[in-house]
Amino acid sequence: MRHHSKASIAVGLVLLLASAGCGPGSGDEALPPFPVIILGLDTVRGDYLGCAGNDSVLTPNLDALATDAVYFSDCQTTAPWTAPAFASLMTGLLPYRHGLLGGGFGRLADEHLTLAEIFAADGRPTSAEVSVQWLSADFGMDQGWDQLRVLHESGRGGTGRRVTRAGLAFAGINSDRPFLLFLHYFEAHAPYTPPAPFDRMYYHGDPRAPGEDVTVLLNSDRARKLAPKVNKHMYDWLEGITDLDFPRRQYAAGVSHVDDYVGQVVAGLRAQGLYDRAMIIVVADHGEHLGEHDFWFTHALPYVETMHVPLLIKFPAARYAGRVVAATVSLVDVMPTVLKAAGLPVPAGLDGVDLAPLITGEAAAAHPAVLAEQGNRPGEYWKALVAGRWKLMRCVKGDAVAYELYDRLDDPGETRNLAADLPDTVAALAARLDGFLEPGHPFTVAEPLPSRKLSRDSRRRLRSLGYIR
Ligand SMILES: [Zn+2]
Repeated sequence: MRHHSKASIAVGLVLLLASAGCGPGSGDEALPPFPVIILGLDTVRGDYLGCAGNDSVLTPNLDALATDAVYFSDCQTTAPWTAPAFASLMTGLLPYRHGLLGGGFGRLADEHLTLAEIFAADGRPTSAEVSVQWLSADFGMDQGWDQLRVLHESGRGGTGRRVTRAGLAFAGINSDRPFLLFLHYFEAHAPYTPPAPFDRMYYHGDPRAPGEDVTVLLNSDRARKLAPKVNKHMYDWLEGITDLDFPRRQYAAGVSHVDDYVGQVVAGLRAQGLYDRAMIIVVADHGEHLGEHDFWFTHALPYVETMHVPLLIKFPAARYAGRVVAATVSLVDVMPTVLKAAGLPVPAGLDGVDLAPLITGEAAAAHPAVLAEQGNRPGEYWKALVAGRWKLMRCVKGDAVAYELYDRLDDPGETRNLAADLPDTVAALAARLDGFLEPGHPFTVAEPLPSRKLSRDSRRRLRSLGYIR
């Protein structure tokens, strides 16, 4: 665990507070200090919730929480994989600014203020229970946590049980003061091997009936070309499977498994008398390709199936309960929204904004457009701009720049590339995309920052998930 000088952070915060001119008392009537619980659901697609209108996957606990919360039906992540997306959640910055992009850009720089650092600087206890190495000190993600525990799967059933138990224990001990708790659930991530009873929830066929092995699909030309680093090891569980319905339904079972933990957290907080006065946020870092765009059971490029994520924000004291916001919002908006509601200073220069004016109807939109990024090599990367009904993807490989354009209203699955038909729309959106990026830095403004030297154990764990060779 890193040791910050809390005093130096506090001084920085006072300056920010003065320069940004914000703090408690502005906006809505101030709420009494409240605990904040963030449930980070890894790899849960935005369209895989009952409250999103999906009637083939059961998420009763998320749906119930949505009736007490604000449901954002068009939340977009900033990157289609774990590390940059969660770094955006915790800093309010886009990946090209926070710099945790993987590869040579391997660590969140200490100079960035995280949500946890701002809570800790105010003397509020902070705790995180996470289930993947990307969220550890190796990658600079320990900033601000009084305690950060990285749990690893042991046997079947994942880490969710231990994450939940430890999280509720922390909440119980600190129930008389405001705190920040981050619980990260990994059960929806591949491999899709849910325990009973979830394993038989949606699939009742014979996954190994005679036929072609589904792993053939994983080696499609496009998948090989665009995601060459997908590790075969990640797909061992699919060897011999012939029915494509099986992995798809087991993915849904993983989502229902995560939903069950959400229900346990809510029940635990109710038992502790914390539920009504807590702010509870449910969010995912990215979704999953389940065959769309020729990617299978992974998250590789910023198409809708990986970019659209769930976002629920339950405010204390039933404030805004049951509202639905359809305007496009981004993961970077969570941090300023939490800070503003909690009466804590919002750092200047964030990419995210406080969502309260959007919730109350004071503002019609949070952003003119939102951005997602993938890639950690200056010569090869993707940027995806979502602006109202349009989605533009810029694919850069060496000197070659290609565009894909989708109409989100007529073609929400992004199946028909209109770039060749609508060159003027492409040019206008490309100019807006450039407007997001600081001049002279088409790839990133963050300096490459190598990860801390990974322990043999860290390397082994990342390799077992297919992230590194
Ligand atoms: Zn993830």
